[in-house]
Amino acid sequence: MVGETDSKMNDKTSCPPLNRENCSHDIARKVFQKIEAMNLEPVPYIYELWFRYFQGYPEIVSAIDNHPGKINETTCHKFHKRYLNSAANNDAIKAISDKIQHSITELAGMMKSAKSTTSEYGEVLEETTKKMETAETIEDLGLIVSSIVEDTKIMVQKNNELEFQLTNSSTQVAELRKNLDNVKKDALTDGLTGLANRKAFDRQILDWVEEASASRVALCLIMLDIDRFKQFNDTYGHQTGDQVLRLVARTLTDGVKGKDMAARYGGEEFAVILPDTPLSGAVRVAEMIRKSVEDKEVINKTRNENLGQITLSAGVTQYISGESVTNFIERSDAALYKAKNSGRNQVKSAQEQEQ
Ligand code: GH3
Ligand code: MG
Ligand code: MG
Repeated sequence: MVGETDSKMNDKTSCPPLNRENCSHDIARKVFQKIEAMNLEPVPYIYELWFRYFQGYPEIVSAIDNHPGKINETTCHKFHKRYLNSAANNDAIKAISDKIQHSITELAGMMKSAKSTTSEYGEVLEETTKKMETAETIEDLGLIVSSIVEDTKIMVQKNNELEFQLTNSSTQVAELRKNLDNVKKDALTDGLTGLANRKAFDRQILDWVEEASASRVALCLIMLDIDRFKQFNDTYGHQTGDQVLRLVARTLTDGVKGKDMAARYGGEEFAVILPDTPLSGAVRVAEMIRKSVEDKEVINKTRNENLGQITLSAGVTQYISGESVTNFIERSDAALYKAKNSGRNQVKSAQEQEQ
C-alpha cells in the first residue's frame, strides 16, 4: 500500500457491511484525502482510479502498490487507461462502436429524407386535387390523372428504395451489435483455455465480495496451481504444456456448477469462485477437481504417446466479512502454498492452516 496512513485502506471493517452507501462515502473521503495529499488534480479519471483502488480492485491495488516511483498524473493516466478505460483501451470495441454510430446517423438521415419525400408527395396530391376540381375538359382530367400516376410511381419507387436501404442498415446494425458483444466477451475470455480471464475474475470477485459483505452469505475461493509444470514443459515442450492447460481448464468447467466461476488466474494458476457455498462445500469441489485431474492421462496426440499423470495443488478459503479482496486472495494463496509445501497434489483450506 502507498504511504503509512493507508495501511488500512482495504480494511472494510470501518464500513458497516450492511450499509453500502456509507461505504462509498467512506471511500470517497479517502479518495479526496489521497488526491490532496499527493497533490493531484481532482479530475474524473484520477478520482475513478483512486476510488477503485480503495474499493480494492486487485489489479489496481497491485499496480499502485508495486509502482516504484512517485505516482503523478501521468502514472494515474497510464493506470486508468490500462485498467479502467476499457473502451479506449480496446480498439476493436471502439471501432465497432464508431461503425454503429455511423449506421445510426445514416438511418436517421434516411428517415429524414423519407419524411420529406412523403410530405412532397402530399403537397403534389393536394395541388392535383385542386387542379382536378377546376378541370374543365375530360382531356385535362386525363392529363392530371396520368401525372398523379407518374408521381405515385416515383413515390412507390422511392419507398421501395428506402425500404431496401432501411432493411440493409438495420441488418448491419444488428450484425455490428453481435460483433460488439463478441468482442466484449473476448476481452473477458482467456484465449488459450476459453475460461474467464484474469480481468473477468477481478471484476467478479469484487462484486461477490461486496455482496457477501452486505448479505453475510458464505463465499469461497479456490486457488489451484499445476504441480511441477516447469519440469513438464521442459520435458515435453510448451505446446504439450498448453494442451495440459486446456485439459485442466476442461476439468474445471466440468467440475463447477451453477453460479460458480472458473478462471485462468495467470500462467498455470487457476481460480474458482463459489458464491453461496460454505468452506466444507468448496473443499469438496476442490478435492473433486484435484482427483479428476490426477485420474486423467495426458496423451500426446501427434505422437500418440502417454505422458502419464499431471497433478495440481489447491488452497481454499471462505470469505471473512469485512476483509478486502486482496486479503481474501492472499489467504487462499497461503493455503495453496501450504498444499505445495506439504507435498503437492492436495487440497488445504485457509482455516485449517491458520490454526
Ligand atoms: P510448483 O509445483 O511449485 O507450482 O512448480 P511449477 O514448476 O509448476 O512452478 P513454477 O512457478 O516454477 O513454474 C511455472 C511454469 O508454468 C513455468 C512456465 O513454463 C509454465 N507456464 C506458465 N504459463 C504457461 C503457458 O501459458 N503455457 C505453458 N505451456 N506453460 C506455462
Ligand atoms: Mg505457479
Ligand atoms: Mg505450478
